[in-house]
Amino acid sequence: MKLSGKTAIITGGASGIGQATARLFAQEGANVVIADFSEAGQEVANRLQDDGHRAIYVKVDVTEEKDIQALIERTVHTYGQVDIMFANAGVANDEPADQLSLEKWQRTLDVNLTGVFLSDKYALIQMLKQGTGGAIINTASIHGHAAKAGVTAYGSSKGGVVMLTQTLGIQYASRGIRVNAVCPGYIDTPLLKALPPEAKQKLVDLHPIGRLGSAEEVAKAVLFLASDDSTFVVGTSLMVDGGYTAQ
Ligand code: NAD
Repeated sequence: MKLSGKTAIITGGASGIGQATARLFAQEGANVVIADFSEAGQEVANRLQDDGHRAIYVKVDVTEEKDIQALIERTVHTYGQVDIMFANAGVANDEPADQLSLEKWQRTLDVNLTGVFLSDKYALIQMLKQGTGGAIINTASIHGHAAKAGVTAYGSSKGGVVMLTQTLGIQYASRGIRVNAVCPGYIDTPLLKALPPEAKQKLVDLHPIGRLGSAEEVAKAVLFLASDDSTFVVGTSLMVDGGYTAQ
């Protein structure tokens, strides 16, 4: 078990990549805290408990500073510490810039970038207080590195996550806290549910591997970054994209 005795917070843990990661972390021995504003997170926690794992759900809006502070407090109260933060909650609702409302732009930046900053900030404060090191993994995207027409606010937010990850990575590495990002290609999760089949096929065609990824495939990369398998990996972006960015 790679995470035995560790406590991990997973934002966006009610669905998709976060949910798959919560299950994998629990199977690897972690105490899991599912932080999400969707109350489906409670069912995810219940199912993990039914399978003999340790998991709780905390309702959180990652854009609200007080929610993140309360999340850390509840985690420490329940499990004693925070060892891993997977800052993963995100939204994708975008347009070309000339059609994109300020409201949509702002909400995307608030959730995808400010939400990651707040999650990282309060995890760091707790980890520094503990003095036992830690691992922080942020969910960026291929679009934090490679632009796509129309992916305006989302790409900007994920580019910000890549740079935030590098900045925190170099700032805290000497104190035993490793900060890294995972950059998924298109993954078949509820985030893509609104797409018609032809649009989905177009996305498939962008991946040299010839298919979309699964949430479980991303979860395995997150586990690598969270565990002692990656002790010399700092400030990096790990592409999990079926060759999208290599192409
Ligand atoms: P998803 O929609 O299945 O899950 C996202 C979760 O985040 C949901 O449970 C949602 O309730 C939660 N969430 C959204 N806003 C929140 C907020 N303000 N506070 C708390 N929780 C909130 O999506 P997913 O595909 O699993 O996406 C997870 C992450 O992966 C996101 O950051 C997304 O941008 C990124 N990503 C996804 C893909 C993809 O193709 N699916 C590709 C690259 C990156």
